[in-house]
Amino acid sequence: MQNPYYQREIAADAIQKRMGQYRISTKSGRHKLLLPLSYGLSSTVLLRILNSHLEHQRHKYSGPGYDLYILVIEPSSISPSNQPTEQIFDLIQERFPSHFYTRLPFHSIFEHDSDVQEAMSKFAGPGFADNPSLSHKERLDAFRASIPTATSKTDVDYALMNRLIVACAKKFGCTGILWGDSDSRLAAKTLASVAKGRGSSVTWQVSDGMSPFGIEFNFPLRDLFSTEVQQYAKLYPELHDIIIPDEPPSEDVLTKNLSIDELMMRYVLTQGEKYPGVMANVTRTASKLQSLSASNVPSCTFCGAKMGGSSNDSASTGILGNTNSLQFCYGCTRSRPDVG
Ligand SMILES: [Zn+2]
Repeated sequence: MQNPYYQREIAADAIQKRMGQYRISTKSGRHKLLLPLSYGLSSTVLLRILNSHLEHQRHKYSGPGYDLYILVIEPSSISPSNQPTEQIFDLIQERFPSHFYTRLPFHSIFEHDSDVQEAMSKFAGPGFADNPSLSHKERLDAFRASIPTATSKTDVDYALMNRLIVACAKKFGCTGILWGDSDSRLAAKTLASVAKGRGSSVTWQVSDGMSPFGIEFNFPLRDLFSTEVQQYAKLYPELHDIIIPDEPPSEDVLTKNLSIDELMMRYVLTQGEKYPGVMANVTRTASKLQSLSASNVPSCTFCGAKMGGSSNDSASTGILGNTNSLQFCYGCTRSRPDVG
């Protein structure tokens, strides 16, 4: 067993090296980067590491190379089973005061993304009628309730949260988003994406580089397994009352009621401990795939993924291409209520 302090130094070094590209320059000035914070283990640890990286830059160079914009989508607005996090939000700003903080409810997507309403209506099909006289919360609840299965619900929530995060990043003038996913999470995302027919969007969901939204996606924790992130968190008592631990997997829940995303995460967490090399390989292989970055390739109206990379995508374009030029990728088509 390696000394945890030694491991911590290695982890922090690797991440600081990744972040070294963001130095202050006379040409571009200071970068603005968005960190979506869920108060989960990984994103909170990432905030802690970036906070010390910025302090290091402040001392070593003429100033920090980037400003950090922290965005929290209020967990209790995503699921009523989550506790409100107002106190944690205050606490985290006290502990790491030199960043910009925003906390938004999930349903604020209607305010920040002007196209989402139309995309939702078309996506849900004739069985769902949006009622603009309802509150934003009620409208979002109604839309989410129209999605049939656990897998589709999780899938649709990911796409909507991604839209909200990207919209906020653009609003703040950020050029990049720093995602807190560990290697384990990226491996689970890769496997789940393929199983859900989203193989063509695996690249930007797991690799560093330009996303289809005109914003860089980066995954600074990509070399750490979730057990390593856990060990790291244990060394910092100031994180203990901030991190909201994941619900331990319950043995009572029937497998058929879990989404593919949850199943894959369970699989990676149990098998990843036995075969860490295999999980690292999944992520590394996926991140070497070429993405469809050409600007003339159409994007999915709902999730924003580039289409045309597979015959599946062309098929869905063919079926839906005449509906007011709104097009859905194969993955989204499978999550739609009327397609099931
Ligand atoms: Zn899509």
